[in-house]
Amino acid sequence: MRQVFAPWRIEWVRRDEERPDDGCVFCAFAEDDADRENLVVARSERAFVLLNNYPYNPGHAMVIPDAHTGEYGDLDDEQLLDHARLKRRTFDALETALEPDGFNAGLNLGDGAGGSIDDHLHTHVVPRWEGDTNFMPVIGDTSVIVEALEDTYDRVREAFADQDGTAVPEDGGAVVVE
Ligand SMILES: [Zn+2]
Repeated sequence: MRQVFAPWRIEWVRRDEERPDDGCVFCAFAEDDADRENLVVARSERAFVLLNNYPYNPGHAMVIPDAHTGEYGDLDDEQLLDHARLKRRTFDALETALEPDGFNAGLNLGDGAGGSIDDHLHTHVVPRWEGDTNFMPVIGDTSVIVEALEDTYDRVREAFADQDGTAVPEDGGAVVVE
């Protein structure tokens, strides 16, 4: 049976269950200071980059506007440009850190698109390697995931830090980009 490429079907965000009733987990990450713990690896003025806690592939990231909306048309020009520029930096950082053969990137908009969080826009950026759909396992061991995520976080963070126009906080958290 051919494996379907559908990373949004396994989207899962850390601490989702710890915030059962007070709204949007992406807004919580946008406002929280615990970037390393939350896997927020970079921030711009109006958006941030979050590593998926349950990656389809290593380096599976989401580029997320700070603004809480599920409507693409709600973003103003500054928000759109900031989000696009951060997405470009994310491609560059993942390229440097992980040397993939390519990327899939995209948004899931609306109830019918299959995303698990549909009220706060997020662009998936998924590094791809030749043949990865053939060996990509269903990951079941949480300790392995966390270990791999921490390693990925450090590698991607370092790649962001090496880009021009960035500031690197001493607390080990998200790289701040222009
Ligand atoms: Zn939100």
